[in-house]
Amino acid sequence: MLCVKAEIIFYLYYIWAGVMTFNNFFEKYFKHTLICFLIFLSASKSHSQSNYLTLHQEALVVDLHNDAICRCFKGQNIERFSRRGHVDLVRLKQGGVDVQFFALWPDPRKYMPDGMFKHTTAMLDTLHQIATRNPDKIKIVKNPDQIRQIVKQGKIAACIGIEGGTAIENSLTKLDYFYRRGVRYLGLTWNDSPDWASSAKDESKLYRQGHRGLTDFGKQVVRRMNELSMMIDLSHAGEQTFYDVLEITTKPVIASHSCVYSICPHYRNLKDKQIRALAKNGGAVFINFYPGFLVKGFERIYQRARKRATAIEDSLQSNQINEPFDRSAFIHQFIDPIYPKVSAIVDHIDYVVKLVGDDYVGLGSDFDGIMLTPAGLHDVSKMPAITRELVKRGYSEDSIKKILGGNFMRIFSKQFPKPTK
Ligand SMILES: [Zn+2]
Repeated sequence: MLCVKAEIIFYLYYIWAGVMTFNNFFEKYFKHTLICFLIFLSASKSHSQSNYLTLHQEALVVDLHNDAICRCFKGQNIERFSRRGHVDLVRLKQGGVDVQFFALWPDPRKYMPDGMFKHTTAMLDTLHQIATRNPDKIKIVKNPDQIRQIVKQGKIAACIGIEGGTAIENSLTKLDYFYRRGVRYLGLTWNDSPDWASSAKDESKLYRQGHRGLTDFGKQVVRRMNELSMMIDLSHAGEQTFYDVLEITTKPVIASHSCVYSICPHYRNLKDKQIRALAKNGGAVFINFYPGFLVKGFERIYQRARKRATAIEDSLQSNQINEPFDRSAFIHQFIDPIYPKVSAIVDHIDYVVKLVGDDYVGLGSDFDGIMLTPAGLHDVSKMPAITRELVKRGYSEDSIKKILGGNFMRIFSKQFPKPTK
């Protein structure tokens, strides 16, 4: 709309300038040429700014990770529009998301040691029930062909992932069960480690403990996942586990919700060597939206501010002082100076593209699993803001389509030995 207005202004001005310069052409020629050029520039800028929405709608948009199902277990409804959390079926549609991976995350602090499989199954049941209740909006899909069919029908294609290898309770039979019920990726570890693979947190200096990398059973899990056509997710995996997997996997792997370590040194992010290894494997990293993984030093400042806020609240309570305390405002005074915008996500995408090319990166929001999101992206309905930023930085249409979903489709298709009908 903006560009149409700018073009009308240009033509009106062009006619007026023609009349005005009739008697004094050379005197005013340069001035009017300059003004015409500026109006044209504004028109073309408006053009590209409005085109990003069309491009976003046309592209297959895939988000590799959210934790919306966890919210259902807190009594929240993700089937209708809400201002709570980051995701619901209405806002997914508003954000132009075509394919959404719903992560099933059984909290080990609540369900270890013997409730992990049971709770993951309960989460799986919940997602299936949501899909059954909303057949016109969402359908669970299990392969690339089903994705194409469902997206064509204008519905959200729901894919299922599990976050944390402890969910299979050291049993390949339970892994097979999850595959049969539609699970298409398993994160080998969450922050905690199963008996057979070490997590990034456990491998990091601060929390070093137990074994490192894959055990023999861990290798069996990887091989079985390859046979099943289930993607291996290494987002929370430690470096040793990461390289052990790459040594034996026969299929491309993913990091469903991680960022770039060189920009933000955090144990959850991938080092350059890991990103190169992912590219060599044909896999990809899907960029997480959490400010603590996007901006260097953010996590330390944020966690410190939260602790200080809790200390103030405790002190007010123990001294029975009835003074109002705005926790959020207190924390924001510390984090606001380095608070990221949407451009921070694209900085990470840019980095991966410059390092290994545009075939090995995508989006893994972690919505509803993260406490904060970049400014301008407060929920999933704002996803087009990423496409706008990619357009602004001069990415080609082809490149943007790969990043938004094409790269995922390539990796997902390669999991299956034959065409999937
Ligand atoms: Zn996670």
